[in-house]
Amino acid sequence: MHHDVIVLGAGLSGLAAARDLAAGGADVLVVEARDRVGGRVEQTSLPDGRLVQLGGEVVGRAHTAYLALAAELGLTLVPSYVAEPGVIARATPEGVSAGDPPHWFGPDDDACHRRVTAAFAALAGTVDPDAPWNHPDAPALDRVSVADWLRAEGASPAVVRLWEIGQLALASGSYERTSLLSALRKHAAVPGDDPAKHAETSSRPAEHYDYEDWEGLRVAEGSATVALRMADALGARVRLGAPVEAVDVRSGRCAVRLAGGETPTAGAVVSALPVGPLRALAVSGVSDRRLASLHRQRQAVAAKFVAAYDKPFWRQRGHNGLSESEGVLGSTWPQNEGVLSALVPPERYGVLLGMPEGGRERELLADVARLYGDDAHRPVASWLRMWGTDPWTRGYVTQWTPGDVMAVGPAHGTHEPPFYVCGSDQWVAGYMEGAVRTGRAAAKEALRRG
Ligand SMILES: Cc1cc2nc3c(=O)[nH]c(=O)nc-3n(C[C@H](O)[C@H](O)[C@H](O)COP(=O)(O)OP(=O)(O)OC[C@H]3O[C@@H](n4cnc5c(N)ncnc54)[C@H](O)[C@@H]3O)c2cc1C
Repeated sequence: MHHDVIVLGAGLSGLAAARDLAAGGADVLVVEARDRVGGRVEQTSLPDGRLVQLGGEVVGRAHTAYLALAAELGLTLVPSYVAEPGVIARATPEGVSAGDPPHWFGPDDDACHRRVTAAFAALAGTVDPDAPWNHPDAPALDRVSVADWLRAEGASPAVVRLWEIGQLALASGSYERTSLLSALRKHAAVPGDDPAKHAETSSRPAEHYDYEDWEGLRVAEGSATVALRMADALGARVRLGAPVEAVDVRSGRCAVRLAGGETPTAGAVVSALPVGPLRALAVSGVSDRRLASLHRQRQAVAAKFVAAYDKPFWRQRGHNGLSESEGVLGSTWPQNEGVLSALVPPERYGVLLGMPEGGRERELLADVARLYGDDAHRPVASWLRMWGTDPWTRGYVTQWTPGDVMAVGPAHGTHEPPFYVCGSDQWVAGYMEGAVRTGRAAAKEALRRG
């Protein structure tokens, strides 16, 4: 069967690309390995009707491509956990504290934190998020880790620890192994408040990761509904249970070999695969430079744990359900009334793999109980989703270790027609925004070239 375009992968990115291609008049086929659409967005529900997100969940006010798509689909954005009343909890081996400052901070650490946060924002202002490799100091900024940069700036160990526990909470890889240039690029893409102005109006410094910009909203109908709505409209143009094994790219006739041998053809191919599974594909007819860049990208390996309770019991203790932790869990946050989300960061993923499967959830609930008390041991339901070892994901969000930004280089997120690439990995730092933004951009470019 011959099509105008074959899209590889029915995650948010592939579906957003296919939706725009179809709207532009193209005959499009989406091939998806799993027996469901959505990829890293997936949802289920409790018997009482509460929706539960097992993958991507929250977005921010700066995520303009995602917000525009949600509006087009008639979906409703509501405030996320960021608007919850109460204080954050932080857990380290020495103890658990509620609110700010963290329990390991000494008298000078807050001022130090403000100073390095402002220095980071100022440096990020010199980086072009679309072309970080053009920065005059790009190779040097890419070689150094965020943690090494902080120490070189004179950050105290307590401040480095605060940045690191925040990074564990996001689960995108330790700051000891994160390229400074990649972190600056991410900040430059969504700069948030000016730290100097923020200091005039708030007793807390502007953080280098602005939660309102990145995580302040969620789709009330469920974030996976974004994918489901697009797939419904595409109908039979989405083919499930069709893993791609090989792609041969030629002008006018690209061939996509599926498991089982069937080989549909098309005038163009849009790859919307995560970088891990993409590495397993045999791709021919694409330049070595293009492939080397794609293959150099990596993802942080993380798991998501969700525990649903009758009610949000943590509120009784004045907590908002948000936590940062040095345990097996890196963070918790409330995703829905009484439903707590949690992430296991790459640094702790091996701990879970090394445990008998039957004991994993017990261990994670013990972490939650340490934060919020014994009620945590009695969820009405819980789910552990090991995304890092899922064969069709092999990760979670983009990770950039020192040297990666320059090695991936200017080919990042670019196309080699008739081979187009999209997917959250093709944006600065992953996220649902990256998936939608790059998916729609790939469709636009493919339509432009006819
Ligand atoms: C636990 C977790 C929590 C997250 N939380 C957030 C959040 O709160 N906010 C946020 O913005 N982002 C979050 N993200 C990230 C976000 O979900 C992803 O960046 C985004 O959904 C990725 O979309 P995508 O279409 O690029 O890739 P994917 O969703 O991974 O889609 C790729 C598709 O390709 C398919 N595929 C893979 N290999 C093949 C093959 N060989 N042949 C055919 N099909 C194949 C996959 O099955 C999948 O359906 C989270 C991710 C995870 C895992």
